[in-house]
Amino acid sequence: MKTKDKGFNTKLIHAGAFEDEFGSATVPIYQTSTFKFKNAQHGADCFSGKSDGYIYTRIGNPTIRAFEQNIAELENGYDGIATSSGMGAISSVFFALLDAGSHIVSSDAVYGPARGILEQDFSRFNVEASFVNTSHIENIIKAIKPNTKVLYIETPANPTMDITDIAACSEIAKKYNLVLVVDNTFSSPYLQKPLNLGADVVLHSITKFINGHADIVGGVIVTKTMELYKKIRHCMVYMGCNMDPTQAFMVIRGVKTLGIRIERAQENAMKVAQFLQNHPKIEWLRYPGLETHPQYALAKKQMNGPGSMMSFGLKGGFEAGRKLMDNVHLALLAVSLGGVETLIQHPASMTHAAVSKENKLKAGITDDLVRYSVGIEDVEDIIEDLRQALDKI
Ligand SMILES: *Cc1c(COP(=O)(O)O)cnc(C)c1O
Repeated sequence: MKTKDKGFNTKLIHAGAFEDEFGSATVPIYQTSTFKFKNAQHGADCFSGKSDGYIYTRIGNPTIRAFEQNIAELENGYDGIATSSGMGAISSVFFALLDAGSHIVSSDAVYGPARGILEQDFSRFNVEASFVNTSHIENIIKAIKPNTKVLYIETPANPTMDITDIAACSEIAKKYNLVLVVDNTFSSPYLQKPLNLGADVVLHSITKFINGHADIVGGVIVTKTMELYKKIRHCMVYMGCNMDPTQAFMVIRGVKTLGIRIERAQENAMKVAQFLQNHPKIEWLRYPGLETHPQYALAKKQMNGPGSMMSFGLKGGFEAGRKLMDNVHLALLAVSLGGVETLIQHPASMTHAAVSKENKLKAGITDDLVRYSVGIEDVEDIIEDLRQALDKI
């Protein structure tokens, strides 16, 4: 079925629909490493691009292709590139867009290893990186150099929940001839479509909201143009960051319920945020759905909803946070986010442990920051779990 003019929830289920000779209702798992050619000429035609037949699963596979076509339509892009993980997506994009001697401007609060690979690894190839608080647009302009090639933002940012104006970044990117890349993991295309706001490339850890069930690791990239698609796909295939067919099958299943999962988690998150905001043991709380969030108006403008991620600090600082994490029973003490289950973690010692203490503080990742990912359980149970743990502090 053609879904271009259909609603988002219809696209989740039907976009990139797959047809096989048996009329299978779901996309089969093509668990094969290689594909037979009809004859020598067909093989040569597949390699030269004259035929679009499959060759080898690192290069392409029908199950993976079905997911790529689905997500490309959800993000309203030219095409999708599925990867082994979110970091596979990030490293493929950096590898494709950064040359030796070039420079990248990045949000300072980004996924820890995304910063780590620039600081520790791309630096070995003479790629320079500047990390700034991109919520203040003037910081970006100040950081741009003659050799800047890429503007990389994460919004809402992990784990500070800082929000960056994507449309304003797109204007800067156009003016200075930069490629604007947005990590859309925290929102998913259900809540935010960066390509519609002027971004050139959007990427995800599908491990989080898009798959949503904490049972696979995976990533994806969607580009606005064919040129960027070809460049990035080439790097992904040559580095071997491809998705596996079974991973693709799992995410095709997971993504179908993205809309109803996010609606429910977001409804729960608003109630949890209101509970925490009024709790005497909470020092501060950052949730884009509350007017106390510094970029509340911007969140309202560029997102279709505030999502289900929040961060907060307790009056007793890190020690109180540790007590909270050790006393919750329903929320799992685990990294990752965006699944059906509620998760709690401590970024300073866990997801962002690789970032130096000084850089963490500069980026607003304070020692007392607790990150909370609200799931789709009954909200009374989620709140009761927090209440009893806070009572023990
Ligand atoms: C988890 C995460 C990543 C990395 O994804 P993996 O699938 O773990 O490799 C990148 N960006 C954000 C915002 C994330 O939360």
